[in-house]
Amino acid sequence: MAFAISTLIGCGGDSGGDAGGVAGVRADRPSFDGARAFRDLMTQVEFGPRVPGTDGHAAQLAWMTEQLGALADTVILDAFSHTTLQSDELELTNVLARFGGVGGIGEPDRRRVLLLAHWDTRPRSERSLLAEDRETPLPGANDGASGVAVLMELARMFAEKAPPTGVDLLFVDGEDYGPTTADMFLGARNYVDTRSAGDAPIFAILLDMVGDKDPRFPIEGYSSQYAPQVAQRIWGIAAELGYGRYFPIEVGQSVNDDHVPLNQAGVPTVDIIDFDYGPQNSLWHTIDDTPENTSAGTLRIVGEVVAEVVYRSR
Ligand SMILES: [Zn+2]
Repeated sequence: MAFAISTLIGCGGDSGGDAGGVAGVRADRPSFDGARAFRDLMTQVEFGPRVPGTDGHAAQLAWMTEQLGALADTVILDAFSHTTLQSDELELTNVLARFGGVGGIGEPDRRRVLLLAHWDTRPRSERSLLAEDRETPLPGANDGASGVAVLMELARMFAEKAPPTGVDLLFVDGEDYGPTTADMFLGARNYVDTRSAGDAPIFAILLDMVGDKDPRFPIEGYSSQYAPQVAQRIWGIAAELGYGRYFPIEVGQSVNDDHVPLNQAGVPTVDIIDFDYGPQNSLWHTIDDTPENTSAGTLRIVGEVVAEVVYRSR
């Protein structure tokens, strides 16, 4: 990357612990329950692949709507269509769950934080070792279910104790359809194209592939380019909480993901992503993207960091 983020160096570091919180540092907030988040990951995988147009996709949408309806102040379903380059007609839905921060006469307060993850899964597992597995839909335990699981547990925390700012949780559809990027990031693009000006969040955090058993989250390249101050805050807090070894303060790969359209639209957005799923990323987009290769402990680490960022936001 051409963008040095020298301001980050030395502001955090590795405190090496995994205690889940340092006395006197943590905001007054509920703790993130990694086991409960992991059950949400399992629930999603049990729906089957969440490919647009399938029963699993419909079941996941119904589940999210029901869960969030009981937790959020407002849940908005934004249905939209997309025709792919291969003439597939996709019926897609973004789900927006809003917590607090509502200003006068039903207008959202300007100070809102946006957290997002994709809820759809890829129609194929094209990087699988065996050729016969490559047309099989992705199980999507890490690439899909992990981000949603963290957001769902955060929703429970926000319902239990309201954060100081408003929070929007956005579950985007059509991130991983493909096969090429022309037919990916569809929900994020739709959000950018259709949101009203008053809804602009002060910053956003994207969670993608946040369940690997061996977590390592360097600062994703586009995030360091577009949203260095948000990245500084997240990685600094991770270090304070004792998670510095999982959130090394260094710039990693640049990953084409849902945060790119948001950043291009002027919303500073960081992608928390471990793009090294299994040795040499060997599990990514394979039939082995299954719950056995994910971890409740990793969901908890990510959830604790994001929760702390949100509860410290003003
Ligand atoms: Zn993917």
